[in-house]
Amino acid sequence: MQTIRVNLGSTSYPAQVGANILDQLGKLACDAGLKPGRCALVTDANVEKIYAASVTDALQKSGFTPTVISIQPGESSKSLATLVTLYDQMTASGLDRASTVFALGGGVVGDLAGFAAASYLRGISIVQIPTTVVAQVDSALGGKTGINHRHAKNLIGAFHQPRLIVADVATLATLPAREFREGLAEVIKYGAIMDAPMLADLERSLDALLARKLAPLEEFVARSLAHKAAVVSADEREDGLRKTLNFGHTIGHAIEASAGYGKYFHGEAVAIGMVAASRLSSAYAGFSADEASQLQRLLERAGLPTVMPSDWRSHENEFLRALNLDKKRAAGAIEFVLLDRLGHALTRSLSLDEILGPLGALPDPHI
Ligand code: ADP
Ligand code: ZN
Repeated sequence: MQTIRVNLGSTSYPAQVGANILDQLGKLACDAGLKPGRCALVTDANVEKIYAASVTDALQKSGFTPTVISIQPGESSKSLATLVTLYDQMTASGLDRASTVFALGGGVVGDLAGFAAASYLRGISIVQIPTTVVAQVDSALGGKTGINHRHAKNLIGAFHQPRLIVADVATLATLPAREFREGLAEVIKYGAIMDAPMLADLERSLDALLARKLAPLEEFVARSLAHKAAVVSADEREDGLRKTLNFGHTIGHAIEASAGYGKYFHGEAVAIGMVAASRLSSAYAGFSADEASQLQRLLERAGLPTVMPSDWRSHENEFLRALNLDKKRAAGAIEFVLLDRLGHALTRSLSLDEILGPLGALPDPHI
């Protein structure tokens, strides 16, 4: 087990990464200063079936008495209606100011349970127990919580830092293949923006990683999480260094939105977005064509898509609108994350024309 410290002054907390560490959850929670007794274990129906019983045992061993609150799997549960059912069950279970919410699942559970914890009694403790690659390397860490509104994803939310993260990579064994692969896009992203040696190691270990061997899973989840922790520690809110985490996401979000949410998984759209951003990086930041194709090949080996949807131009209006709606937008231009080399990112303001110029040539297999 590896401990990664997330340094945020008075709200600092540990992230524990390891294989088969869920049975130590109760002890880890006590060590993090959480008070045993009544608590909530929020999860979704898929994850509940596989892990809720053993997690409940692990908590009970240390004196926690969890009420299991299970939601429907999927993004549509990040809703006000589901949030209300959480509040109802939290009240019925007698959770008080000293109680803890344990969020066991992917990003949906983490965001929803995190926001419930952020708002219940003006904020109670949350422990994140991420069970998807995306959640383990990205969304569980950083304190972003929230629900969707019909006008926009994550429109309603709050920053609420967890007291503890427990990322058990053994849980990734049961993750559906497509969900597993989309998470690798975020892992590869950390290599691209801040860790070239990790990209080289990923190239060497990709087959073992795809076979979900525990050792490489632990290694790359821990390295990715440590990168996110470093960025978040340096910069808790959405500024500066943290912006570079959006590499691949500006175009990725536009693809997700214009193709209709759900057609592309987030990580898949980000993979395409990273390849498109590589192209812009070559045009505007001197990123070499060799390194661009190295990145593209790694994404392809991970089973991720890398070319713009063939009909993206027919969605052009929606695509452009989504680009413009993107929250990275600064007056008249879009704040864009580029690479000048593998392992190093920078941000630049690009006009829509500057973005669409090089993109117009896509799809092109020889990026
Ligand atoms: P994300 O972290 O990508 O936002 P979600 O919370 O939407 O993911 O979870 C993706 C899907 O995977 C959901 O259907 C969820 O129930 C399922 N899931 C999450 N973790 C696991 C796991 N470890 N094993 C099996 N299924 C899982
Ligand atoms: Zn992402």
